[in-house]
Amino acid sequence: MSGARWLDVRNPRTGENDYRIAVADEAEVAAAATRLRAAQPDWAARPVEQRIAVLRRWVEAVGRHGDGLLQALVTDTGRSFVSRAEIAGLGATVERWSRLAPDILAEPLQESTTPGIDYRIQLVPIPLVGAISPWNFPLTLSLIDAVPALVAGCAVLVKPSEVTPRFVAPLEAALGEVPELDSVFAFVRGDGATGAALIRHVDAVCFTGSVATGRKVAAAAAARFIPAFLELGGKDPMVILASADVKQAAETALRASVSVTGQACQSIERVYVSHAIYDEFVAELVAAAERVELNWPDIHAGHIGPLIFAKQAATIRSQLEDAVARGARIRCGGVVEEHGGGLWIRPTVVTEVDHGMALMREETFGPVIPVMPFDSVDEAVALANDSEFGLSAAVLAGTLDEAEQVGRRIEAGAVSLNDGALTSLFYEAEKDSFKSSGLGGSRMGPAGMRRFLRRRALIRQQNAPASIESVDERRGCP
Ligand code: NAD
Repeated sequence: MSGARWLDVRNPRTGENDYRIAVADEAEVAAAATRLRAAQPDWAARPVEQRIAVLRRWVEAVGRHGDGLLQALVTDTGRSFVSRAEIAGLGATVERWSRLAPDILAEPLQESTTPGIDYRIQLVPIPLVGAISPWNFPLTLSLIDAVPALVAGCAVLVKPSEVTPRFVAPLEAALGEVPELDSVFAFVRGDGATGAALIRHVDAVCFTGSVATGRKVAAAAAARFIPAFLELGGKDPMVILASADVKQAAETALRASVSVTGQACQSIERVYVSHAIYDEFVAELVAAAERVELNWPDIHAGHIGPLIFAKQAATIRSQLEDAVARGARIRCGGVVEEHGGGLWIRPTVVTEVDHGMALMREETFGPVIPVMPFDSVDEAVALANDSEFGLSAAVLAGTLDEAEQVGRRIEAGAVSLNDGALTSLFYEAEKDSFKSSGLGGSRMGPAGMRRFLRRRALIRQQNAPASIESVDERRGCP
């Protein structure tokens, strides 16, 4: 580690750099990849039940390191409830894939329409999958692709965000207690340079992060002809029809926008409301937003934590300033506050907005809710679709059928009907990212594991193979 490049890590509750990581260079990434590759064939050769049993032992080992993991994650993110939920989610993720795996990995003999020929599709795991993850859900998003890839028989190398790297040490300690898994699963710490190096040494890359970085990852993967699965940013719209229950709609819009301080790709970032209920909705929303408390000074009280990434505060400030300069009105919140060295912003409702504002076009990644009225459903759909992003969306209406009719017209990979941001809770439904929000197969549902399996068709001839005479030009038409 001597001569390593070091990175300071900021604590989001104090603003102090109280941790640092040694950045893995190309040689370290290459060495990790070589080690994992060497062990992968044995891992893939095990029956899936054995791989699952090994992963379950790791979950138990993580439990033994639970206190350290929780402390690290809480320090990384400045929030307690969500950190506990992330940790609880690990066991649930392993169990979900364990339930799905036997069906996904089955290789039945298949009949064909050609007499005498049947076939079997052998599923061949990609040897080494790389995962590059962001800072907003450090644990969940570093493992969301790793678990199905490991169950499928791949080895996995993860490069978590340099903004929130503390949680990695307790996970590694738990890995050390399960040597079978340790040989095929590893983390490398570092920034974008380490991520770029990782792409040079893996056979497929799963990337979760911004559109700007996603473009670089896609180009690097294309240059190597390896698959890239990109889960990128969003500017998710919520459409609220005149028939919706106004109070409920305000509560739902608030929760779906400001949970986790709006630092989620599936956060609602634009709300379009029927003129018929607009004034009432805005009043309810502002009243509900003003009841939201920061989890400061007590991390165990309040609803939202600090901004994890200090640079995000500048983005939020600049989008709000631009909107106000163009005529927007801030109804509540709107100020980045400093408490104890950390940066915080209360739920911010903004009206008199239009699509000329960066606030309505670019990802905000904060607890900001711009609200715009519409006259007709066609106008609402056009506004929702007027975006470079197409990650997810939401529609609220008096009935699910009415909501679904509108939801079917929205250019997004997942639409929550009579709720918002359901993709944060529900992983079973396959979905694609539309437009600039991503590329590659669905991470959700069974496709999330199938992405890591190449198909080898084993085509079986039961009859005597044809001879060269079968293509003799003197033969008539077949
Ligand atoms: P980011 O793009 O800045 O960084 C993501 C990761 O990429 C980090 O680990 C970083 O070190 C790495 N990286 C940076 N440059 C790289 C390069 N040239 N090559 C390889 N790796 C490189 O994103 P962020 O700020 O950490 O995360 C926030 C973004 O993530 C938001 O846009 C959010 O919407 C998106 N996100 C998407 C999803 C989803 O499922 N679609 C989920 C969570 C977050």
